[in-house]
Amino acid sequence: MDDALALVDERLERLLAEHDPEGDRFEFMGAQFDLGLAWVWFPEGHGGLGLPPHLQRRVDERLDAVTPHRPRSYDILGHGMGAPVLLAHGTEEQKRRYLRPMFTGEEIWCQLFSEPGAGSDLAGLATRAVRDGDEWVVNGQKVWTTVAHLARWGMLVARTDPELPKHRGLTYFLLDMQDPGVEVRPLRQITGEAEFNEVYLTDARIPDANRIGEVGEGWRVAMTTLMNERVAIGGTVTERGEGSIADLVEVWRRRPDPLHRDRVLRLWVDAEVARLTNLRAQENRDAGTPGPEGSTGKLVYAELNQRIYEEALALLGPEGMLYDSYEFRQPDPEEPPSTDLRRRFLRVRANSIEGGTSEIMRNIIGERVLGLPGEPRVDKDVPWSQIRRG
Ligand SMILES: Cc1cc2nc3c(=O)[nH]c(=O)nc-3n(C[C@H](O)[C@H](O)[C@H](O)COP(=O)(O)OP(=O)(O)OC[C@H]3O[C@@H](n4cnc5c(N)ncnc54)[C@H](O)[C@@H]3O)c2cc1C
Repeated sequence: MDDALALVDERLERLLAEHDPEGDRFEFMGAQFDLGLAWVWFPEGHGGLGLPPHLQRRVDERLDAVTPHRPRSYDILGHGMGAPVLLAHGTEEQKRRYLRPMFTGEEIWCQLFSEPGAGSDLAGLATRAVRDGDEWVVNGQKVWTTVAHLARWGMLVARTDPELPKHRGLTYFLLDMQDPGVEVRPLRQITGEAEFNEVYLTDARIPDANRIGEVGEGWRVAMTTLMNERVAIGGTVTERGEGSIADLVEVWRRRPDPLHRDRVLRLWVDAEVARLTNLRAQENRDAGTPGPEGSTGKLVYAELNQRIYEEALALLGPEGMLYDSYEFRQPDPEEPPSTDLRRRFLRVRANSIEGGTSEIMRNIIGERVLGLPGEPRVDKDVPWSQIRRG
């Protein structure tokens, strides 16, 4: 066994000997962070051991075996995006302050990127941040902000110089969601639930110490966020036959219909190919910002999930049309996710929109993987203030 693996095993044994995995969650996860087992590829002192990322599987598998019902994360956006952003662009002080409570779930993070007039064209966003001494004053509106109602911190991209071309006048901040200038209003989704929100920013104040990256470098930091978001959404490696395909196989066992056999098998094969491709991508990935393979994984994941649940509902027949309740609720991350296939069928419609639409994923793959000509970008060098907006 090599030294790196031995170190991970030694830390795991220490963690489990000295802390009760079924006890207080914040205490256990805090100890996991302190022992470098939060993200093994992060530096020591910041939740890691400076080891290759694939060794995290050793940690996850061992802890999953001890606490099979506990999710690996209570802060999907923080773990998936906030942590790699802080690692790549944060100051030492920011890493020390934010990473540990994010890992334990004591402080939840959200992503304040999309606006009513800026989604796929994120660089066109209009929320303004104006410097006032050691602070920034922020005004604008964000939308589709997942878990904003639970979040303590928001990853915010705002325009700090409207006279520069759109990608160059942006700056990245960490916004305190408890600031009096922040108003969060729930938005209902097709499932009936409100996972996401509108967020109104009226003279919200951010200390300059909460700026991530340099002034005007917001696009670069936003790209790190988005590249990691795609991997967080589409790059999870499950065991063979687990994940959404397990739902389909389960319906098939209850209602085997020979007319659907070929389609179920085809989906099983496609799910396995996607899983193996993700596994290969994960093993090849160095620590650092993921490349365009994240867009491929995200595109495949979104389309496969939609096909899988369409097939599951077809097998359910008329039962697939019944839906429990459209009663308004905001999902509780402490509760296990619903296993209702009809809810899942509706929820996966969002997979081809959230984290960048499938059309945008295809554009990225076309340009960055296949080397096809880029789409025309007529406003690329025009000052943002002079671009016509709807
Ligand atoms: C469940 C869910 C959760 C979300 N959570 C968050 C969040 O936490 N934080 C956040 O900031 N955002 C979040 N979003 C927003 C998401 O990132 C945007 O919805 C997405 O980027 C698309 O932007 P848009 O909705 O403005 O659509 P638009 O950009 O207006 O796109 C409309 C249509 O035009 C197509 N299109 C646009 N540009 C092009 C192009 N250049 N080439 C080809 N086709 C194009 C799109 O593919 C789409 O079909 C969430 C969305 C969903 C559904």
